Amino acid sequence: MSTDPTNGGRPKIPLAPRFWSKVNVGDLRECWEWDSAFDAKGYGAFFYNGRTRRAHHVALLLSEDSINTLDELPGDVIRHTCDNPACVNPKHLTPGTQSENIKDHVRRTRDDRLTDDEIREIRRKSDEGATYVELGEEYDRHRSNISAIVRRESFDWVD
Ligand SMILES: [Zn+2]
Repeated sequence: MSTDPTNGGRPKIPLAPRFWSKVNVGDLRECWEWDSAFDAKGYGAFFYNGRTRRAHHVALLLSEDSINTLDELPGDVIRHTCDNPACVNPKHLTPGTQSENIKDHVRRTRDDRLTDDEIREIRRKSDEGATYVELGEEYDRHRSNISAIVRRESFDWVD
C-alpha cells in the first residue's frame, strides 16, 4: 500500500471513503452536511493533494464522471441550490463541466433560475392539463426541461 506524504506518511486512504466518512449522508432530497472543518465562509474544508479544498467541490469531483481533477471545476460558478454552504449533496450543487455548459449554466443560474415556487407552479399547471410545450413557452424552457421537472427528474428536492 502506498503512503501519502501529505498525511504524515500514514497509509493512503482512497479519496472517496476518506471524503464521505466526513459527511452526514442522507436522502437525496436532504442536505448532506459536512461534519468536519469549515472555512471562514462556512464551506466545508477538506485537505486534498496538498491543499485545503472546498468540500462541495470535492463532492462534485467524486460524483461527476466528466470531472477528473479539481482544476476542471469552475470554482466560482458552483452554487448551492439549497443555499446551505455546509451541504455537499451533489444533487444540491450546480456544476459546469465544459466551457460552453458553464457559460450556459452561469447564464441560467444567474439570470433566470427557476425558484422552488415556480417549480411547484409548473407541476400544478401540468396536473391541471397544461402541455409541456405551453409551459415551456411560459417559463422560457425547452419542453424536455419542463418534462423533467414534472416527472421529478430534476428539482426532485422541491416538494
Ligand atoms: Zn443541500
